[in-house]
Formats: sequence, structure tokens, C-alpha cells
Amino acid sequence: MKKILVVEDERPLAEAVAFSLEKEGYQVDIALDGERGWRMCQQGAYHLVLLDLMLPGMDGMEVCRRLRRESDVPVIMLTAKDADVDKILGLEMGADDYVTKPFNMRELVARVKAVLRRYQGEEKGKAASEGVIEAGDIALDRERHEVRVRGEVVEMPLMEFRLLELFLRHPGKALPREYLTTQVWEGDYFGQSKTLDVHVRRLREKVEEDPAHPRHIITVRGVGYRFEAGGESS
Ligand code: CA
Repeated sequence: MKKILVVEDERPLAEAVAFSLEKEGYQVDIALDGERGWRMCQQGAYHLVLLDLMLPGMDGMEVCRRLRRESDVPVIMLTAKDADVDKILGLEMGADDYVTKPFNMRELVARVKAVLRRYQGEEKGKAASEGVIEAGDIALDRERHEVRVRGEVVEMPLMEFRLLELFLRHPGKALPREYLTTQVWEGDYFGQSKTLDVHVRRLREKVEEDPAHPRHIITVRGVGYRFEAGGESS
């Protein structure tokens, strides 16, 4: 059974969330403040943490940062409408997803399921890190440094290769521009923003059937890019 921790200081909301998740078969614990949430994360083996951004004492941002230093448990932030999404999903905090308050429980449950599914996919990807990563009609072979699209070998310079690998490892996840650039160009973010777009354009020309209407590498306005394995049209 999957264990979820809800860190939320509004008790009625925390209980409503717990109730909805338990109905779906999850085991749910509640922490009403950041300190306690942090302690429970360290003790309990949770599969996912739902974390309110605004908490008394240690806020959600700090809890998330600490969590990221110690574990890769998926985190979904509960945020206000005007929250800084770039920051939440970016390197600074590294949450997996966010849900804006007020949310309905169906939406929240759907996000939880999606993040857990994605996380399982990533774990599989990690296990196969020496081998071939496949997503839809794309296959990337790290050992041979070879990419096949729809069965055909495609020429792929190193930076494009690394960018594609990053996409393939995080299917369905909106990846912030800053994250992509620092990962691909190893920390040298400044001046690389345009370069990122150039590389994305080149990648699209190689992996998309119709680069003008990408189905794999989707632009996420205000954030960055999201990779879809099956490819839904953007
Ligand atoms: Ca709160």
C-alpha cells in the first residue's frame, strides 16, 4: 500500500485531503506544521508528500529543500494562485508538481496518481540507466551513444543527446528552463537560455514527425518544456 504524508496546517483541509486519498486506497498521515512534517518524513517511508507552501514555523519551501537534500520522494506543493512556479519546480525547491488552492479533490487525486505513476517510470529508467531508454517511437542507447527515431538511427551531437536523455528520463513532467540548462550545460546557466531553444528546435527536427506541431517536446509557457512519450499535440 502506498503511504502519503499530508503537511497542511488547516486541519479541516488536511483531513478532507486524507479522506479523499484513503478512499482511493492510500494510507495517509497528517502533519499540521513544517517541523513535524519534516520529522515524519525522516522517520516514515512515504511514497509521496503533499506539502503546503504556507506553514507556520518551518514553511513548505524549507521542508521541500531539506527533503530534496536527503531523498527523492515525490513532492506535490499546495500553493496560492500567485505562487512562483519556476521556483517551486526549479532547482531551488525541486518539487515534482503543484496544485493551486482552492482545488477540488478529484483534481488532487488525479495529480497524486500521475506523479506516482511518473515516479515509478523514473525508477525503471534509473534501473536501466546503463541500457536503452525508450519512449514511444524514440530509443536512446547510452552505451552506444545512439538515438533511433521510428527505427532509424539519427545523428545526435552531445548536447542534444544529453537534452533528449533528460526529457526521456522525466516523461510527462514540466521541466523548467533553468533546470534543463544547468543539467545539460553543467551549471553554466547564463547566456544559455537562447541556446536551449536552439537545441530544442534541432531536437524537434529530429524526433518529431511534424516539427511545426511537436507532439513529444511540448512548450510549457512560463516554465520550460515537457516531454510526452506517446505524444499529445500541443
Ligand atoms: Ca497553510
